[in-house]
Amino acid sequence: MHDQIDKIRQLLDELETVNIDAVGAAGNSDFLPATEMSVVIQEIVDDLHPLLTPYEIAFYWHLFRHSIARSGNPLVRLSVPTLQRVAKSTKSNAMDSKISEGQIRTSLRILTSIGAIRCEGEPNREGTLYRVLIPDEIDACQEYRRKRTAAAEKPQPSEAEADFYNMKENRIKVYERDGYKCRYCGKQLTRFTCTLDHVTPVDADGTNSFDNLVTACLECNSRKHRRPLGDFLTEQ
Ligand SMILES: [Zn+2]
Repeated sequence: MHDQIDKIRQLLDELETVNIDAVGAAGNSDFLPATEMSVVIQEIVDDLHPLLTPYEIAFYWHLFRHSIARSGNPLVRLSVPTLQRVAKSTKSNAMDSKISEGQIRTSLRILTSIGAIRCEGEPNREGTLYRVLIPDEIDACQEYRRKRTAAAEKPQPSEAEADFYNMKENRIKVYERDGYKCRYCGKQLTRFTCTLDHVTPVDADGTNSFDNLVTACLECNSRKHRRPLGDFLTEQ
């Protein structure tokens, strides 16, 4: 499991770079504005990651990066050898570096059944054409989000006005407090690559308060996901 998580770290790093590039080019682009991109990325972390295994997460980010993040076009052609390269190129050590064609096909089937990707026609020599969907378009993510927000909306009237998670202008206050640095690894981020992480997870009754949120890079946010903070910080 840890090996697999290591493998997605590099991909997430790359995505952060691509996202910055996309932001740089945003002036003449007709795709997702940078601010929306950061929201979409946060939603992928929050509402899609929990439904996927590390390999599926890595493949999804690969597809996302080569479609929506690059050009705004959600269509991307994909072959099994390409995904094998994705898995290989992100390996952190020799162990567990091989992923079989069967495993890849299973991952694609699961991504398809969740609704994160959709096959758009017959395969040809270059692979199969897929449409990459974002959490707003994925029913399973909506469902997960409903549960997540329902859990966060336990009656706390005073907290309601101080929701630092769902209100964009409040999110920025958390980023500013943390100096746009990941609170786990110290990486310097930009407002486009920052994500918010709950110190006490929502599942464990964590709130959206200023004190329960920290700035995190994509990589740390993915790694820490749903694990107690103590475990995460003492690992390595
Ligand atoms: Zn980090």
